[in-house]
Amino acid sequence: MKIAVAKEIDPSEPRVAASPDTVKKFKALGAEIAVEPGAGIKSGLPDSEFTAAGATVSADALADADIIIKVKRPEASELSRYKRGALVIAIMDPYGNEAALKTIADAGVAAFAMELMPRITRAQVMDVLSSQANLAGYRAVIEGAEAFGRAFPMMMTAAGTVPAAKVFVMGVGVAGLQAIATARRLGAVVTATDVRPATKEQVESLGAKFLAVEDEEFKNAQTAGGYAKEMSKEYQAKQAALTAEHIKKQDIVITTALIPGRPAPKLVSAEMVKSMKPGSVLVDLAVERGGNVEGAKPGEVVDLDGIKIVGYTNVAGRVAASASSLYARNLFSFIETMVDKKEKKLAVNWDDELVKATALTKDGAVVHPNFQPKA
Ligand code: NAD
Repeated sequence: MKIAVAKEIDPSEPRVAASPDTVKKFKALGAEIAVEPGAGIKSGLPDSEFTAAGATVSADALADADIIIKVKRPEASELSRYKRGALVIAIMDPYGNEAALKTIADAGVAAFAMELMPRITRAQVMDVLSSQANLAGYRAVIEGAEAFGRAFPMMMTAAGTVPAAKVFVMGVGVAGLQAIATARRLGAVVTATDVRPATKEQVESLGAKFLAVEDEEFKNAQTAGGYAKEMSKEYQAKQAALTAEHIKKQDIVITTALIPGRPAPKLVSAEMVKSMKPGSVLVDLAVERGGNVEGAKPGEVVDLDGIKIVGYTNVAGRVAASASSLYARNLFSFIETMVDKKEKKLAVNWDDELVKATALTKDGAVVHPNFQPKA
């Protein structure tokens, strides 16, 4: 069983799919691990760290690998270097990228999308959305603090008092909860909003104040899967009216709101942005999915007369070493379920619910029901 760790070809992707810790774990499973040179360098992992853990480092690492692990979906130029029949496991970003999935299928590899992992107890340790969103939520506050020209905590000094920053977190999933906790630790006064009623208690347990339109629709806004529904136009209007008044008084707004399979809901209008004080900062973590803040631009910090909208993409990648270490663990935990531990060889159970939920391509075809070509 040969496992290869690919070097990402996207220069904006600093994460890597393995760590010295997971190399050791894979070796204990009976696998041989080969790493492409420089794969971990942007995550603070020089090749020597991988060799010390028992991997080989080689430019041909991918050629005869049974399993290739990476961060991003492989491009055509990468696929030509993989063995037919190999398993490729990554964050595949499959929605809206059906043509790329067809290219992967044509290459004869079996591709798995880690972000489609079901959110069930057994798979929590493999949940890349959580491991990466948690770090993104943390980092969003750090980015906000960096762009903000003032201090977060209240400071009573001989020279006068600096007031505590007011931080408003919109969307309280994994990223939002970590953003609240981080902003609180830095001494900000934190408020938060979400459309799922379950979040109210979570917000309050972190010492923040909850703010939302708590009507009948709100009471039913959570799907059986724990995600948010897309809200009605009427609800959105009520939500906007409430938020507009609140945002005016905030120093930092961090938005994280997403709806699975839909564009991100627009929560902050250009007018609301304009109503904020100069020096205020908005950090839009949903910018890659269309954005929660009007005027946010992917990969840019937009400055509107002193109000900044931070639209960094791949925010987890801005904490690359931590993000890689957790992602590597998520991958190991998944791959471990595909190995026959007695025989020390690959034994994929194609009927396992984790495999079924994540497998995109197999034997030359796109097999996932959500990505079938339209009739
Ligand atoms: P997400 O990234 O899909 O969305 C982020 C947040 O945005 C959610 O809390 C959502 O309710 C909120 N949102 C959507 N529309 C909004 C609007 N119009 N206004 C305000 N907020 C809005 O969410 P997530 O972080 O992936 O978490 C989704 C759910 O999954 C949560 O219930 C979480 O507890 C659960 N979860 C379960 C597991 C597990 O069981 N293994 C792991 C992680 C998360």
